[in-house]
Amino acid sequence: MTASSNQNRQMPRTGASHTIRTETVTNAVLFDMDGVILKGRGSDPDIHTEALLETIVDYEIDPPASVLAALDTYEYTDEFIDACEVIDVDPVAFYADREAASAKFAIERLRAGERGLYPDVEALESIAETATVALVSNNYHPTVTFVAEHFGLDLFSFVRGRDLGVEGFTRRKPEPDYLLEALDALCVSAGYYVGDRETDVIAARRAGLKPVFLRRSHNEDVELGAKPAVEIDSLDELLAVLNAEPA
Ligand SMILES: [Mg+2]
Repeated sequence: MTASSNQNRQMPRTGASHTIRTETVTNAVLFDMDGVILKGRGSDPDIHTEALLETIVDYEIDPPASVLAALDTYEYTDEFIDACEVIDVDPVAFYADREAASAKFAIERLRAGERGLYPDVEALESIAETATVALVSNNYHPTVTFVAEHFGLDLFSFVRGRDLGVEGFTRRKPEPDYLLEALDALCVSAGYYVGDRETDVIAARRAGLKPVFLRRSHNEDVELGAKPAVEIDSLDELLAVLNAEPA
């Protein structure tokens, strides 16, 4: 499962559109990607600014400096919509096109080796022997599927990032939408969700999953407003958790 040996492997079981096993499975472990599988809390925010500038060029528009900050916001806000009205572009389309560019730039950086896997991802091999494992992320779906393929993470039976655009934004965690989609696709009704943010804990609860909170260097001192079922400091601890805390 190392990056060097599996980068070009075909992954017939990876991706939201692929056929999923049909028997009922009760033991499932779903994983967040950023900060859990892939090093770092998330994509470099600079990619969103790069994406905005490219989208401006593609649209052949020349926004006044006064709206650039609003157009650069990650979130789909009233401020963003107002800024789009100023420059006479459809906010929904512009937001989706900007996010498509963000996903493209994120993939370029991953391909260049900017971020790698955490070493303890190796522990997933033994977990996958006893449980169905899946990857469900707030990152863009094209980026998440790229990560799974690039790093040869073919042990995941289901891989899902959020859709580009406003609908994907509104369905992101802490909303449980994509976790529920995964459970439905996997024919699973119970299991665990391993994440590194409070929103992961909340989304897991909303989806009926046991939240497992993973503390790494980037979140070791975070105080949670939502209570996970268990906290771990490494994915190496997860197998023991599964045995001790049935889903
Ligand atoms: Mg995360």
